[in-house]
Amino acid sequence: MGKRTHTREDQRLRTEFFEEGRRLDADPDTRELADCHLCHTRIDYTVDPATTPDSHTLDHYFPVDDYPELQNDPENFRHAHFNCNSSRGKGEANTNGLGEPMAAWW
Ligand SMILES: [Zn+2]
Repeated sequence: MGKRTHTREDQRLRTEFFEEGRRLDADPDTRELADCHLCHTRIDYTVDPATTPDSHTLDHYFPVDDYPELQNDPENFRHAHFNCNSSRGKGEANTNGLGEPMAAWW
C-alpha cells in the first residue's frame, strides 16, 4: 500500500502514453498496436482516458504494488480498456500472445 505515486511526472507519462495510442490507432498500419492488451479489441480513443468502459487506461504489465520501481518505466506500460484494467485484478495477467511473465525469482 502507498507505493504508487501521483506526481505531475506520472500524469505527463500517462497523457503521453494515451496520445501515443491514439496516434497508433489512427494509422491502419499500426492500429493493432493500440488495441487493448488484455482482450485484444479496439480501445475508444475518441473519449478521455478512464471515462467509459471502452476508454483508454495505462495498465502496468508488472503490477506497481510488486514492482514500484517500474511504475514510470514506459517498457512496463500497456494499452488497456478501463473495464479490462479494472477487472484484471492483481496477479491475473492475461498474457495471450505476449509470452509468460517472468517468474518472481528471476
Ligand atoms: Zn480490453
